[in-house]
Amino acid sequence: MKNTKELRTWLDDLQLDHPLVVAGPCSAETEEQVLNIAHQLKDSDVNYFRAGIWKPRTRPGNFEGVGALGLKWLQKVKAETGMKTATEVANANHVKLALEHDIDLLWIGARSTVSPFIVQEIADALAGTDKIVLVKNPVNPDLALWLGGIERLYTANIKNLGVIHRGFSTYDKSKYRNNPEWQIAIELQNRFPDLPLICDPSHITGNREMIFDVSQTALDLNFDGLMIETHFDPDNAWSDAAQQVTPKALVKIMDDLRIRKVTDTEADYRAELNNLRAQINVADDQLIEILGKRMQVSDKIGALKKQKNVAVLQSKRWNEILGNMILEGKSRGLSEEFVLRMFKAIHQESINHQEKILKG
Ligand code: PEP
Ligand code: MN
Repeated sequence: MKNTKELRTWLDDLQLDHPLVVAGPCSAETEEQVLNIAHQLKDSDVNYFRAGIWKPRTRPGNFEGVGALGLKWLQKVKAETGMKTATEVANANHVKLALEHDIDLLWIGARSTVSPFIVQEIADALAGTDKIVLVKNPVNPDLALWLGGIERLYTANIKNLGVIHRGFSTYDKSKYRNNPEWQIAIELQNRFPDLPLICDPSHITGNREMIFDVSQTALDLNFDGLMIETHFDPDNAWSDAAQQVTPKALVKIMDDLRIRKVTDTEADYRAELNNLRAQINVADDQLIEILGKRMQVSDKIGALKKQKNVAVLQSKRWNEILGNMILEGKSRGLSEEFVLRMFKAIHQESINHQEKILKG
C-alpha cells in the first residue's frame, strides 16, 4: 500500500463542506423504526444512513439483529429519502446479501477485525467492489491488526477504503466504554494520511452525554468524519440504549462542533504556530535530556544494589514516588492517567537498565 492517494477519492468525490456523517440506529429493529429515524435525518447533514442488521453481541441471548429482512428496509430508506445506506458485514453471506440489496457502504466491526480469517473471508467476498468499505479498529489496542485488515482489503482490489476509530477495550477502570487511545489513530493517520478516518464516538463513550466532546476531539485531530448512533427513542432502543442520541440532538451536535481547517495560510497564524512548535521542540529536547540523566542515576543505583545483592524492584519506594508524582502532576494540570502511564514506562526502563547491570 505505497501510493495511498487513490484511497482518498471517494471522500473527495462527495465534495462535502463539513465532516462526513454516518448516522442511524445501532440496530434496525422494525421497518417503522428505521423509516421514522431516516425521515427525521433526511434534511440534515447525514451522508450515510447506518443500521446494524446482524448484531455481534458479546454475550448470546440479547437481540442479535433482524437479519436480511432489514436490508429491504434500508432499500426503502434510500428510495424514500435519497440517503445512501450503510451496514456491518461479518461474513461472506452478509456481503453477498448486502451487495444484492445495493447497500452503499459496508463496515467491518471491531469483533471481526480481530480475526484475520474473517477479514480475509470478507475481502474475498468483496473482491473488486467499488462500494465503500470501512474497517473498524480491532477490540484490542493493536495497530498491526488494524493495518492488516486494511491491507487484506486493499490486496483484494478494494480501493474505496477507510477506517473507523471506535476505541479499545481495557481492564482498567475508565470513563469510556472503549478507551479512545488516540495515539493509535494518530499513528494510523501518520502512516496513511490519505485513508479517510472516521470517529465513532458512540462506541467510544457508551454514553450520549459524552458524544459531543469526543466528536470535537476527533475533529481537532483532523478526523474526516463521524459515525453517531441515532434513534427516535434512544432509551427504548433494543441495543446500545445509553449511547444513542435523537435526530434532533444529532443536528445540535453537528451545529455546535467547531470544524477546523487543516491549515490556514494567514501569515500571523503561521508565525505563531512556528513559534509554538519551536517551544515544543525545546521542551522535547529537555525531556529527553532529563530522562537520560535519570537513567544514569538509575544505573548507579543498579551498581550499588549489585554490590549489596539487593533486589531491583522495591515496591514501597516505587509507590511513594508514584503517589507524589500524581499529586505533583495534578498541580500542573496533568491527569492521573497520564502520570501513571508515563511513570510506569519510566520505571520499566529503569528496571531494564538495572537488570542489565545486575546481570552484567
Ligand atoms: C456498531 O457499530 O453497531 C457496532 C457493533 O460496533 P463495534 O463493531 O464498534 O462494536
Ligand atoms: Mn451499537
